[in-house]
Amino acid sequence: MNHTSDRFIDNSRAALANPVLQAALANLKRGFPINRAEVVADLPEFEELRNVARDIKDHTLDHLDVYLEIYERNVRASGGKVHWARNAKEARDTIMRICRDAGARTVTKGKSMVVEEIGLNEALDASEIRRVETDLGEYIIQLRDEPPSHIIVPAVHVTKEEIGDAFREAHEGLDPTRALSEPADITAEARTRLREAYFSAEVGITGANFLVAESGSSIIVTNEGNGDLTQTLARTHVVVASLEKIVPTMEDAFAILRLLARSSTGQEFSVYTSVSNGPKRSDDLDGPKAYHVVLVDNGRSSMLGTNQQDMLRCIQCAACINHCPVYSAVGGHAYGWIYPGPMGAVLTPSLTNIAASAHLPNASTFCGQCEQVCPMKIPLIKMMRHHRNSAHQQGHGGKVSKFALFFWSYFAGRPALYRTLTGIGVGVLAALAIGRGRLKSLPLVGGWTANRDLPAPEGGTFLTRYRRGER
Ligand code: SF4
Repeated sequence: MNHTSDRFIDNSRAALANPVLQAALANLKRGFPINRAEVVADLPEFEELRNVARDIKDHTLDHLDVYLEIYERNVRASGGKVHWARNAKEARDTIMRICRDAGARTVTKGKSMVVEEIGLNEALDASEIRRVETDLGEYIIQLRDEPPSHIIVPAVHVTKEEIGDAFREAHEGLDPTRALSEPADITAEARTRLREAYFSAEVGITGANFLVAESGSSIIVTNEGNGDLTQTLARTHVVVASLEKIVPTMEDAFAILRLLARSSTGQEFSVYTSVSNGPKRSDDLDGPKAYHVVLVDNGRSSMLGTNQQDMLRCIQCAACINHCPVYSAVGGHAYGWIYPGPMGAVLTPSLTNIAASAHLPNASTFCGQCEQVCPMKIPLIKMMRHHRNSAHQQGHGGKVSKFALFFWSYFAGRPALYRTLTGIGVGVLAALAIGRGRLKSLPLVGGWTANRDLPAPEGGTFLTRYRRGER
């Protein structure tokens, strides 16, 4: 996927002017947050579970090397193989080699953000191997040749009509006038196409929501059951997971699972929670003949021990995205890489570089909603602030903010001058707004007042009111 985070502002302008996207984002805002609030209210121990989940992940990250080695030993003991990939290229090369060794002509894939991150789709598409996405949303964006715009609903930006058009174009040999306006028609047609792929695929690739050290298991959650078919029917199953997916025990995984679906879609539990352990054993009814796990670092180990380590607690539930006013205005493609919203504003600069993604930590009102709903208690605001600071220190903050910060620090360091100037400024703004109570436009902040009015100041500056005891 092309990295266009440096064009966040232009991407956002285009998104704001796209009425189809705006309607889709309005639906998203009305759906998941409301569902989440209901199921959370029904679970009195939700807050306590958040503390438990945070502690499990913190403990694991502090002993990541130990648990990864235990995990590898247990995968080997169950007949599987673990491959370590330091970066995206190593991960891609390893997976492509496994596919070729397995004689793959068709590969089925479950939804996995780390697979998007390492650019495996592009590598498969450039090869002789046919790639078939089995998650419905991923299948739709594959047909439209687009990246995902959300980490749990990748095709949230696509309308029913657009899906119908994509199906008509891609699914040859069917009546072009067939009904494709209802979700049931769309899913039935996708199901028929995907069945054929499940049975013909030599390799099935899935991600993992958790890797369990004590048993060498990988766990995926889906609502469509596509992950089970992907990992069970192909002769070779490849699990691709980033290092931080590890948890020590099955009990730990299930403690966090109690938060995952509630925080993401507002379900008590996802429809399918599937645990897989190595290849098919002699007394198993079905399963793959070969089982590989590709463990991807790609910048994560360098976050350990830094002010970005907390981000590795992320379980990719998307609660922060679903509650973010910026994401719900501009959608996922504006962020220019795999991870959108507040989690992307923290993760993208950490995994790529701040020079290319300096806009992202600024794409926040700092309203704090993301932190309030994050089941893993990740201090997203503080971490975005760290990135803002790094961007500024490294000269990527933009000329306007540099100029503004320079002036602010100059005056803030001279309290008497600061008080005088802010007093004059407040007086001028109040005079300009006389009779209206609001200012419709102002020089220097035209972009801000283009979409909203500025309320007129009332009663003087903060400092004068504070001195008067107005608290
Ligand atoms: S940062 Fe928190 S809320 Fe956002 S996706 Fe990760 S775990 Fe979920």
